[in-house]
Amino acid sequence: MKLKILGSGAAQGIPALFCCCQVCQTAREKGGHDIRRRAAYLWDDDIMIDLGPDFFSAQIAWNLDYSKLRHVLITHSHADHLYPMNLYFRPPGVDTRPEPSWLTVHGNSIVGQMLNEAFPESLEECSLDFSEVKVGQTIKLDEQRSATAIRAQHGPEEVCLNYILQSSDHHVLVGNDTGWWDEETWQVLEQHRFDAAIVDCTAGTLDYRKYHMNVEAVIDVRTRLLKCGAIDEASRIIANHFSHTGDLNHSQLVDKLAPAPIEVGYDGMEIEL
Ligand SMILES: [Zn+2]
Ligand SMILES: [Zn+2]
Ligand SMILES: [Zn+2]
Repeated sequence: MKLKILGSGAAQGIPALFCCCQVCQTAREKGGHDIRRRAAYLWDDDIMIDLGPDFFSAQIAWNLDYSKLRHVLITHSHADHLYPMNLYFRPPGVDTRPEPSWLTVHGNSIVGQMLNEAFPESLEECSLDFSEVKVGQTIKLDEQRSATAIRAQHGPEEVCLNYILQSSDHHVLVGNDTGWWDEETWQVLEQHRFDAAIVDCTAGTLDYRKYHMNVEAVIDVRTRLLKCGAIDEASRIIANHFSHTGDLNHSQLVDKLAPAPIEVGYDGMEIEL
């Protein structure tokens, strides 16, 4: 199983467009791991998790071939995770793709509404369909792979989702955007045995863990997962989805998280299991 981080930033990305804080200035000066696109992931080469405004930029950065995509799992409708224009140019005669090239977008009901508004004619014309996902549902993606949706804690406006990705022999948690999960969700997490878990670390040094998590919360997540047997010492815990407002550049994040031990996500990081 291979999962590539295409974006490790929160809504604004880093450097944020109009900001000169130390995180954004470090990114401008050093580049590399301090540059953060909006969060998204590529599972093998045919499944995306989220489809934000940096979808095109990621294609260029890593020479990706999106004609292979067959499924997109959307966590929630915020603009850094779903940018419908990415899907506009798929009608016959516009793009040339291999057959069959059907792409299924999975997400909550608000994601479905957004797609219906963005494609008033029909999704079908663009070889797209939408499948609504409920909390607790396991989506069969192919013979080997599935994804289970769990409830994220990301505000009252919609039912935001995190996904547990399952291949024949590995389980990986994709956990952004969320604050500290509720007990019901923890009970689900505790039934799994994760080879890797990606955990929201938007808030950095801020005293905040309600709808996003800070560094301390990420460390607490690892401790709880370890305690209940959902991970062991060999499991990889990776913090991701960083905002410049958390006031930590890449090396400062490494200083705080490496002792846990927790890895710091970056654009282009490959998680191979
Ligand atoms: Zn986000
Ligand atoms: Zn900034
Ligand atoms: Zn969000």
